Amino acid sequence: MATKTAIKTAERKKFAGKIHEVVKWPDPVLAKRGAEVTEFDAELAQLVEEMFESMYAAQGIGLAAPQIAISKRITVIDVSFGKDEAQKYALINPIVVSADGKQVEEEGCLSLPEIREKVQRAERVKVRAQNVKGEWFEVDGTELLARALLHEIDHLDGVLFIDRISRLKRELVLRKIRKMQKNGEW
Ligand SMILES: [Zn+2]
Repeated sequence: MATKTAIKTAERKKFAGKIHEVVKWPDPVLAKRGAEVTEFDAELAQLVEEMFESMYAAQGIGLAAPQIAISKRITVIDVSFGKDEAQKYALINPIVVSADGKQVEEEGCLSLPEIREKVQRAERVKVRAQNVKGEWFEVDGTELLARALLHEIDHLDGVLFIDRISRLKRELVLRKIRKMQKNGEW
């Protein structure tokens, strides 16, 4: 998920790993269901670190592996954008256990730059996921965290937020994208 406004990343410490490029719609990897992760090894831990750094570099508060062309059920979220270690979540094979209430807020996506639309989501969610060691844990999220969890888990199922808006709004968004593509801005 994209942040509302650009945040300065200059103060962030140097990162030795790879910063992955975020793929844009309509890359077919974004429409695919990601594969379950079965190996919880050093390679996975490294990938998760790279995903966090790629997310910060792209000014995001959430990033799913399909967005860096890796079709696996891995996502990272930090709605504090690097300010609070306790709000950093790496979720492997996440499952939405419960979702209640309703919130309608503007949403953006790193794979759909410049596009922001109001999307209805649950207000509260409970998600179960594995950590990089393969241990199961639960996250309770409300408001922005609930939205980020649902947005990122959608990515693992090949669903984008523009799939959750009205057909008319989606048509307008696609028209805007086509125009940007034509102008070489996409
Ligand atoms: Zn997204």
